[in-house]
Amino acid sequence: MNTQLSSPVSLTVAKFGGTSVADYLAMDRCADIVLADPSVRIVVVSASSGVTNLLVSLSSGISDGAKRLELLGQIAEIQYQILDALGRPAEVAAALDLLLTEMDKHSAQLAQQPQDPRRVDALLALGEQCSSLLFAELLRQRGEPARSRDVREVMRTDSHHGRAEPQLQELAQLAKGCWGAALEAERIVTQGFIGADSEGHTTTLGRGGSDFSAALLAEALGADSLAIWTDVDGIYSCDPRLVTGARPIPELSFDEAAEMATFGAKVLHPATILPAVRSGCAVFVGCSRAPEMGGTWIRNRTELTPVFRALSLRRNQTLMTVHSLNMLHAQGFLAELFAILARHRISVDLITTSEVSVALTLDSTGSDSGGRELLTPALLEELGQMCRVEVESGLALVAVIGNRIANTAGIGKRVFEVIEQHNVRMICQGASPHNLCFLVDGQEVDGVVRQLHNRLLETQ
Ligand code: ADP
Ligand code: ASP
Ligand code: MG
Repeated sequence: MNTQLSSPVSLTVAKFGGTSVADYLAMDRCADIVLADPSVRIVVVSASSGVTNLLVSLSSGISDGAKRLELLGQIAEIQYQILDALGRPAEVAAALDLLLTEMDKHSAQLAQQPQDPRRVDALLALGEQCSSLLFAELLRQRGEPARSRDVREVMRTDSHHGRAEPQLQELAQLAKGCWGAALEAERIVTQGFIGADSEGHTTTLGRGGSDFSAALLAEALGADSLAIWTDVDGIYSCDPRLVTGARPIPELSFDEAAEMATFGAKVLHPATILPAVRSGCAVFVGCSRAPEMGGTWIRNRTELTPVFRALSLRRNQTLMTVHSLNMLHAQGFLAELFAILARHRISVDLITTSEVSVALTLDSTGSDSGGRELLTPALLEELGQMCRVEVESGLALVAVIGNRIANTAGIGKRVFEVIEQHNVRMICQGASPHNLCFLVDGQEVDGVVRQLHNRLLETQ
């Protein structure tokens, strides 16, 4: 047993994303990170890069048998390469074969009977089960007591397949009860993204949900810190794949990080920050390929609080405008509208109102694990009964993120003079001191973001 653990020590939950566990060498670098820090007792892994996308394709119900087998073959190849590098230990090979057989079984059933959400989740969840099995073996081969534990023992959710909601009290009780004592003796390697409802059916938390899983486990176990290891050395002032001048931000407040994640900084799943805020757990984001580069610390307070900190963007936004004369001098219209949206589990991002209309933005594909459309015909029909609905798609949402944005004079001028040649379809500001958001044509958004980044964040 690690002697450093006999007195209360700090607890870190470390999460490794898909590219970090893509192959044996990538996993081995993650093992270096885990072994270098005795406080890392829980390791949460995503599926190896590409596997969840392949499972999503299979989940749509592929009736062409040859195509289905080809996709299954691609998944098997990714996993077997890692298994081979581990020397094919018999027990792990047998467990992996069982998981691959399950993939075959579920995908064949979905080809017969597509759109079975329970089975879709059972299929999607298998990617994380493979990677956690392999990563635990790698840690053991490096001489570390480690075990792969099924997160469904503790990650209790509701039964909303594809976008399940965690049940926090049960999760906390189960995590402490089932895993609390084991943490001292061995590192626990477990799955992100997946959970189970009260009847034991497998659920998933939505695409990119492993960050959220790790934050929930950190909260449930009272961890001191949560480390998100990914393919970038921290959270940047904008997506570095889009803006070459983007720079890593050493320190961010919870508020700023939450705004960035909500408005499209893919590096963190939008729900990750809330459990950390609730439990006061500091969050670190770093690169598993180059941990020595450092990364971003997200905490309650930061030393610097610049007005402009970062830009985020979300593509594929839909603007829905509802018109009704019933809004004129009436009460309760918005309540009715939001009740309908809530029944269809739609969360609204931006909203503006006029005398007889309300405009709101939605992600055209939600964060549902299977990528299903949120704006369904059933929703449009229900809304159509109370108002006239117009839908515009192909838009993009840009968020300017920082501090005191709502209380600093001249912000609007500085932002909009940079992009004055572009048509701004909607503007939202004032609800939070940390953001100013607007919608532009999706075709123009890359240029808009690059210009804004250059003027607001590179020439300060
Ligand atoms: P993982 O598989 O580790 O969860 P993701 O692909 O989900 O990794 O997130 C990492 C990616 O997020 C980066 O490669 C980067 O392109 C993208 N990204 C978007 N916005 C930002 C940002 N502001 N800072 C850093 N990365 C960002
Ligand atoms: N494997 C899941 C996905 O690709 C969850 C994650 O990686 O966070 O969406
Ligand atoms: Mg991610």
